[in-house]
Order: sequence, then structure tokens, then C-alpha cells
Amino acid sequence: MSGFSMAASHAAGKGEVDAVFGVLRLANEALARHGKEKVINASVGSIFDDEEKFAALPAVDDYLRKMPAEELMNYAPIAGLPGFLEAAVEQAFQGKKPKNTFIRAVATPGGTGAVRNVFYNYSEQGQKILVPDWFWGPYRTIIHEHLRVMENYPMFDENNNFHISAVKNKSLELLQSQDSLVVVFNTPGHNPTGYSMKHEEWTELLDFYKNCAENRKKKITILVDLAYIDFVGSAETTRDFMILFEGLPENILITMAYSMSKSFLLYGMRSGAVIGVSSSEEVAEEFFRINSFSNRGVWSNGTRGAQRLLAEVGKNPELKARCDEERRVYTEMLLKRAALFLKEAKEVGLKTLPYHGGFFITVPAQDPQAATEKLAQDNIFAVPLKKGIRFAICSIALSKIPGLAAKTKEALSSKY
Ligand code: PLP
Repeated sequence: MSGFSMAASHAAGKGEVDAVFGVLRLANEALARHGKEKVINASVGSIFDDEEKFAALPAVDDYLRKMPAEELMNYAPIAGLPGFLEAAVEQAFQGKKPKNTFIRAVATPGGTGAVRNVFYNYSEQGQKILVPDWFWGPYRTIIHEHLRVMENYPMFDENNNFHISAVKNKSLELLQSQDSLVVVFNTPGHNPTGYSMKHEEWTELLDFYKNCAENRKKKITILVDLAYIDFVGSAETTRDFMILFEGLPENILITMAYSMSKSFLLYGMRSGAVIGVSSSEEVAEEFFRINSFSNRGVWSNGTRGAQRLLAEVGKNPELKARCDEERRVYTEMLLKRAALFLKEAKEVGLKTLPYHGGFFITVPAQDPQAATEKLAQDNIFAVPLKKGIRFAICSIALSKIPGLAAKTKEALSSKY
């Protein structure tokens, strides 16, 4: 190879091996060689039921299959169908809307599109975006793609508590050198740990950011990534923190990434919304305008069929109730698998990061690559992260959980 590159200077050198899809390939090879019974595929972030079949919400499946072609396939408006936008806001807040705020939504291709629009529209080129050290890998990709820089803080202290002083210190540090700060909280049911921020942690953080915002030159954008919110507990218990977004100054903007990928198990239909919450009508209107413009300039419109489905959920209580009930069954399935894994982990002395819900559990590791390779010798496929191993409990049948913690402990303590 000559090293010659045709790429523009900002694009040269881009490219990465997707950690998850790399492991998935190995798992599929093992499946072909040894059969389903012998393989544990803990890599993919989609739900497989206890028979190891792809899980869909039957109500969603029925509704989509009966949808007329025009609704399924035609263009949607650039910002999203109005009924969809209304329903996305209702689904995100489920009755926990903060008072005296202006809330606007714009359709995006999944939560990914929402994350992209927030990163791009609320940070300057070259600026740092604050993400915890345990994070969903594509944040880094999206940040780099848009010529920003990722800055991390340690998410947990030595007692595995959320490291709130670390977020504060890093925020202060960044606010000294830049006037805009975008900070990401993926909660509840954080990927990859399963952590959910507590109400008191939200209160403390918002008070802190209010103090920072007394300097009117500073613009603080908080992105709450809600990808797993519907797989942690009931809608009534998972959204209490949202009422705290009341009474914030106009230079603090709350943004949310709402996704139908997990909430409706509709990963491939690429639908979600970016939601903005502000005490200022002007900021909320600007939010709608600039994010709609980004849609047009990046991917045009979203998937009409998925938007129509959510719009229908918003106005048809029977359909909503069916979806909620079917999703609840899967949430319980996940929580049951997690409870068994965590119980066995405790019994064998395997350390895990705090899990409260969602699709993943993470085990810290000194050498995650070596440990996952060791596990793969036992046909267990999990994703090596920088400082740990991620188990997608969403894709492991309950019957395959017993012994998994012990095997992991063994892989961690072996000399490789
Ligand atoms: N945020 C987190 C933390 C995720 O794990 C995911 C998906 O895996 C997303 C956002 C976005 O997913 P999508 O673009 O499919 O909605």
C-alpha cells in the first residue's frame, strides 16, 4: 500500500472496526460450527426471547402489515408527521412534563439522528463534548464525524457510585475554555452498564448547571439519551426526573433523544425524535427550526410508516395499551435474566457495574480483549470495551444464564 489517500484532509484516516459486529461475526461462525445449544451470543443489542427468536411487539407487527402502501412508503414531512411529533413528546414524558416550559420535537432517524443533531447544532466545531468513560461507542464516532472532540469523566467512583463531582469538575473545566457545553446523560438503563441516575443526582446536577449558567455568556445543553427508558420499569416510575426541567434559565437547554428502536423494537425502521425543552419560547422555536434544517441537509425525512405507527399509538388508547403490555413482558424477561446473572455474580465474587435496567450488564476487566477471547473458547461471545466486558442480556435466553457469571470470573482470573 502506498499510503496515497484521495480523501479530504478531515476524512482521511477515518474508519473503525465496529466492536459489536466483529464479535457477532465470530458468534455466527461458532453457531454454524457447533449449533445453537452450545453458543451464547451476548453481543447484539436487540431482544431475543427465551426461545432465542427475534422479539417484536405483535401489536406493532400487526399494525405495520395492515398499513396502506402510501402510509408505509410515502415521504413524511421533513420535521415529521405532526401526529408523530405530538405522540413522541407524549411517549417520552408520559405525564411527567415540566411545567412552564416550551417543548418542541423534530423527527430523526432513531436516537442516533437526535444525538447527531444535538452534537452538531449545539457545540462549535472543534469543541469538546462531555460523555462518561462508560459510553455507547457511536457517540465517539458521531463526535469525530462532526469534527468535535470527546471528553470523558469517570462515571463511577471507587464505591461504584455515580461520580457526580467528576461530572461537575469536568464541566467547570470545559466551561473555562469554551462557551458552549454539550453534556450527555444516557439514563435510565445506561448502555453499557444499566445504570439509572437517581432523582437526587438530577437535582444536584441541575442546581450545579444553574449556577454555571449565571454567567450568561455560557450556553449549556444537556442531552438525555432515553434509548432504554422503556426497559427499566413502569412509565410512572422512570420519568420522575423530567419534572425537574422546570424553571431553568434560557441558557440551559434540555434535549432528549427519543428512539422507537428499542421502545417499539423497531430498530431497522430508523425512527425517533429529538426533543427540546426550554423556558424560552424563542429558544424552543429556534430548536425546531435548526433541527428541521439539519434533517433536510443530512438525511431529508424520516420513515413515514414508523411515524404513522407512533401517531396512531398517540391517539388510539387500545393500541397503546397493547404495545405497553407486550413491552412489559419483555422488560420483565430482561430484568429476570439480569437478576439471575447478578445473583450468580455475587455468589462467585464477580464484580459488575451498577445495573438498574436496560439491555446490558458490564463487568469491569483489566484486559477485556483477552478475557473475551478466553470466553469465546467456551463459545461465549461478549463485547470487549476499553475497561470491561459488555453482556447483552437482551439476547441471552434465561436458560443460558446459569454458570455465565462463574465462567466470566474464571476468564478474568485465568492467566490468559
Ligand atoms: N443511544 C444509545 C445509548 C444506544 O445504545 C442506542 C442504540 O443502540 C441509541 C442511542 C440509538 O439507537 P437508534 O439510532 O437505533 O435509535
